[in-house]
Amino acid sequence: MELSQRDITYCKNVGAKRADILRTELKVYTAMDLLRQYPYKYIDRSRFYRIAELDDEDTYVQIIGEVTEWHTIGIGRAQRLSATFFDGTHQCELVWFQGVQYVKLKQGVKYLLFGKPSRFNHTYNFVHPELTPWSKVTPEMTQGLEPYYNTTEKMKKVGMNSKAIRSIIAELMPDLKLGVPDTIGADVLQKYHLMSLTQALVSVHFPANTQALQQARLRLKFEELFYLQLHILRQMKRREQYDGFPMPLVGTRFHALYKSLPFELTNAQKRVIREIHDDLKSGKQMNRLLQGDVGSGKTLVALLCCLLAVDNGYQTCIMAPTEILANQHYETLKKFLEPLNNQLPITNHQSSHVSVALLTGSTTAKNRAPIHQGLLNGTIHILVGTHALLEDDVQWKKLGFVVIDEQHRFGVAQRAKLWSKSGASSADSSLPAPPPHILVMTATPIPRTLAMTVYGDLRVSVIDELPPGRKPVQTIHYSIQRRAQVYAFMRKQIEEGRQIYVVYPLIKENEKMDLLDLQNGYNELCEAFPQFRISMLHGQMKAADKDQQMQRFVSGETQILVSTTVIEVGVNVPNATVMIIQNAERFGLSQLHQLRGRVGRGAEQSFCLLLTDFELSKDTRKRMDIMVATNDGFRIAEADLQLRGAGDLDGTRQSGLPIDLQIANLATDGQILTIARQAASDILDQDPLLEDQMNRIYKYQLDLLRVSQSYNWGEIS
Ligand code: ADP
Ligand code: MG
Repeated sequence: MELSQRDITYCKNVGAKRADILRTELKVYTAMDLLRQYPYKYIDRSRFYRIAELDDEDTYVQIIGEVTEWHTIGIGRAQRLSATFFDGTHQCELVWFQGVQYVKLKQGVKYLLFGKPSRFNHTYNFVHPELTPWSKVTPEMTQGLEPYYNTTEKMKKVGMNSKAIRSIIAELMPDLKLGVPDTIGADVLQKYHLMSLTQALVSVHFPANTQALQQARLRLKFEELFYLQLHILRQMKRREQYDGFPMPLVGTRFHALYKSLPFELTNAQKRVIREIHDDLKSGKQMNRLLQGDVGSGKTLVALLCCLLAVDNGYQTCIMAPTEILANQHYETLKKFLEPLNNQLPITNHQSSHVSVALLTGSTTAKNRAPIHQGLLNGTIHILVGTHALLEDDVQWKKLGFVVIDEQHRFGVAQRAKLWSKSGASSADSSLPAPPPHILVMTATPIPRTLAMTVYGDLRVSVIDELPPGRKPVQTIHYSIQRRAQVYAFMRKQIEEGRQIYVVYPLIKENEKMDLLDLQNGYNELCEAFPQFRISMLHGQMKAADKDQQMQRFVSGETQILVSTTVIEVGVNVPNATVMIIQNAERFGLSQLHQLRGRVGRGAEQSFCLLLTDFELSKDTRKRMDIMVATNDGFRIAEADLQLRGAGDLDGTRQSGLPIDLQIANLATDGQILTIARQAASDILDQDPLLEDQMNRIYKYQLDLLRVSQSYNWGEIS
């Protein structure tokens, strides 16, 4: 029977009880499922180390030598056995804390030591090593790479440790070696020099040597990333079959705003507007990601594109992740549009007028009614808001263009909902209306590999240029002991007329404590600066209060804004030149970068002060160093990916990948990803719906994946 059909219960060394646990713990139902549980590490048992060679990076090692001396310390439960191990030139320490009475050591005997060294003072020590007399060491013990499998507590209770898994898998090898059907076509395997699935599975579990293992892992990573890309690209192709509202016209409103701007657009802004307009006039529905570092001027690009849509007779909306940001966008848009809306009727009032409305969670029922009305009868051109925009009673006459700002705050589900918000133009057509064009904007730069997966179904535009005249923010890392210095600096900046943000971290698990931190910080600043006015802002405040505090800062009435991370995204106060981040060690890199992006928006030199404890972990120190070293969001994002691994990045946790990755790693396998994407795209170019006989296998595999990964598959069809 095929391994993919063989019930795990009937595999050797399993049985009903273990099978049950394998099913519930690892979702392993068949022999093939078990073969798809790849080892998470290997230990090279053919290599012998010298003590002098050990370094801090070593995991498990084996060393030949003898035990020269040992003694027990303490009594009863606290008893500890310490021994000195000597390899002929150097020595290290062996320690046992438990079962000391079972450790039998002999002098003058050659031992094989196996364990994990850790550095302590100037020597290495091994806690609970395996110590085997050399005379008992069999050749198998020191042969090749020993695989280690993930197991859970429940598995261990029934004796299923890594060794046991290994022996179950060993029993499957003869059948596996007869061959299993491949999941990737022979042409692709050949083109990219990849192992067959059979060979890869054999080698991943029982590698003959490191080369074979590497080849096997390469093939399995490729397979994973290939299917991920095949899925994403097929989605994209499906979407691109949709018609979109055609918006060929570059009309009066667009031109009027363009002409009224007090500055020239950057070349990057012009380029992305052209890219977006090309999509809008193509007749196909647009799904585009606009990436641009903080302060690169995305809002204006969004507004100009909205006007393209309005000029073509459509309504538009801009969705922001927070009320503060929605309010700010609303104010910004109104200001930009003033010259258009104040034009006298003689100058063609009809076509240059643009009406903007604001809808958030705190919009009262009384104020909602006219908005709903205006959306239905088409008198509102641009609706700015929070996810309140997604509510069912928000109905449009002709929604044609949607902007989602700071997408990393929204999940894929919300994007899908906007997609399905019909442009409701059924009045002039019996056909269902196409979905609106969608522009997703983010200031969280995403490394290429991630963009290809998380946003792999979007076309990407990048604003890679800041408006001229911006001075890069100077970043300084201080330990909190130097408060006096920080205060002196703050005083000087305020006396020069500048404003300052002071941000405190917020950990959701303990909001009370966090707010206390914030309140204390506020009190301290009030004491230190009785001559200045200070606003305070946090997520627990009522929207109206938040708005009022923000407004006082925006208007310049207060000089300092003490806040939690509610100001993290989007807030724009050009006169604020100092960003002070308290407990900077508690923030991730991309968050720090976002916060820093709040300053450096005007002509004055801006500063970012990272305040941390004196003692820092290695990772934290690295994060601070990167922040000090560069202002480049893409470099920071790459570093973030390397430091934290892909699973943990801000933007991805919420979006989720459509397929869980078991062996591939987006942080390190970017090159394989690029090739896998190419391979998938070649296939879809020939056969977008995977209907060819020769591509049947791909369609079948995707169907299987859909079943097993349905929770975040995010299908639209
Ligand atoms: P972000 O990309 O972070 O959303 P914003 O849209 O908030 O950036 O723009 C930051 C500031 O830069 C705003 O005050 C905006 O008016 C200004 N700005 C945008 N484009 C230009 C430009 N081409 N030249 C000068 N200033 C610009
Ligand atoms: Mg913005």
